Amino acid sequence: MDYSKMKPESLMMSYGYKPNLSEGSIKCPIFQTSTFVFENAMQGKKFFEVAYGLREKEENEELGLIYSRLNNPDLEILENRLCLWDNAEDCAVFESGMSAITTAMMEFMKPGDLLLYSKPLYGGTDHFINNFLKKLNIKAIGFMANDSKEDIISKINNSSRSNKLSMIHIETPANPTNSLIDIEMCNEIKSLFSIEENQPVLSVDNTYMGPIWQHPLKHGADIVLYSATKYIGGHSDVIAGACLGSKELIRRVKGLRTFFGNMAGPLTGWLLMRSLETLKVRMDQQAKNAVYVADFLKKHPKVEKIYYLGEKAKNGTNEEKELIKKQYASYGAMISFDIKGGEKEAFKFLDNLKLIKLAVSLGGTESLAEHPKTMTHADVLASEKEIMYITDKLIRISVGVENYNDLISDLSQALNSI
Ligand SMILES: *Cc1c(COP(=O)(O)O)cnc(C)c1O
Repeated sequence: MDYSKMKPESLMMSYGYKPNLSEGSIKCPIFQTSTFVFENAMQGKKFFEVAYGLREKEENEELGLIYSRLNNPDLEILENRLCLWDNAEDCAVFESGMSAITTAMMEFMKPGDLLLYSKPLYGGTDHFINNFLKKLNIKAIGFMANDSKEDIISKINNSSRSNKLSMIHIETPANPTNSLIDIEMCNEIKSLFSIEENQPVLSVDNTYMGPIWQHPLKHGADIVLYSATKYIGGHSDVIAGACLGSKELIRRVKGLRTFFGNMAGPLTGWLLMRSLETLKVRMDQQAKNAVYVADFLKKHPKVEKIYYLGEKAKNGTNEEKELIKKQYASYGAMISFDIKGGEKEAFKFLDNLKLIKLAVSLGGTESLAEHPKTMTHADVLASEKEIMYITDKLIRISVGVENYNDLISDLSQALNSI
């Protein structure tokens, strides 16, 4: 059997785990331990030499288990499995999406550097960039999905730090309006500002579409970041994050993770391995349900406009249509829409939902709805909210795995209550 030819969904139940090392247990146990016993002192010495990079690994030598802040079987097997979906060389898992994002940013940027980022970004990331990184004298410039490549290049040139561009960080499709950014275009911009003594890192927060529907590494991203709290965890019962990329870049991220101490714990690793077994079936069902939900919303008289990849693929600009074909394997399961009216109508609708819960977060088995302007994106500048279509009438829905007819009945009765 050639495992390398199999699809990730076939390997999620067993890959990287050896039952004979755990009393034949079919599932990887939770290695709830802080430290690991060495067979002898020489083994301990050798493990540390590799862990601290004092020498290169010998051929076929694996990093031994030392201490759960450095490594733990639940994390290592999970990391190996996550690599399969994105075809990445290595992965580091974290105790939250925010810790994955902030650790990567701290590793690849230093005071005096320039960061280019897409807008809108996840609120927590935006806050970190515009508050904490600013204090470290890291300058950040944002661009919008509809800015042209030339606009973005001149923004960098006008920043007075164009030779210090150390990171480009983007989210596509953007939350909450599903605006699209071309990852290959960002990679071209990166190359323009790449000089021998300064090689920028292109990072993509793939939480909204990954790891099934978009594979940023294939389009030139250097690292992919996830809030594993969302689709990867998928059951709204765990907070976690991940960073994937080349061996060399992830070695650096793991190095900083060791000293920040923000790795995921064994239970988190175990929960995510369990989640990965059903990742494909869950996400397939969610995307399928979203097609029906979007179709219902689009035709409803109380709905003004929908923001959904399937709608852009049909009625978007030619650029959008081409980008969807190139970059996405599905239209996803996140739908936003403008309700006719304003905050009053939007709240009435949200308060009347029954099966669909009123909560932030996304990607879980249950469908959720929220009001971005006053909830997830409350922190965005008022002037920018308008430009980004984050208005009183905007509602965001994360479509779950329920029967789509029941979702539509719930949406229907809530819309009719207005
Ligand atoms: C939720 C989310 C995050 C933050 O992840 P946590 O697991 O909550 O720390 C980052 N980016 C995106 C796009 C998210 O949706």
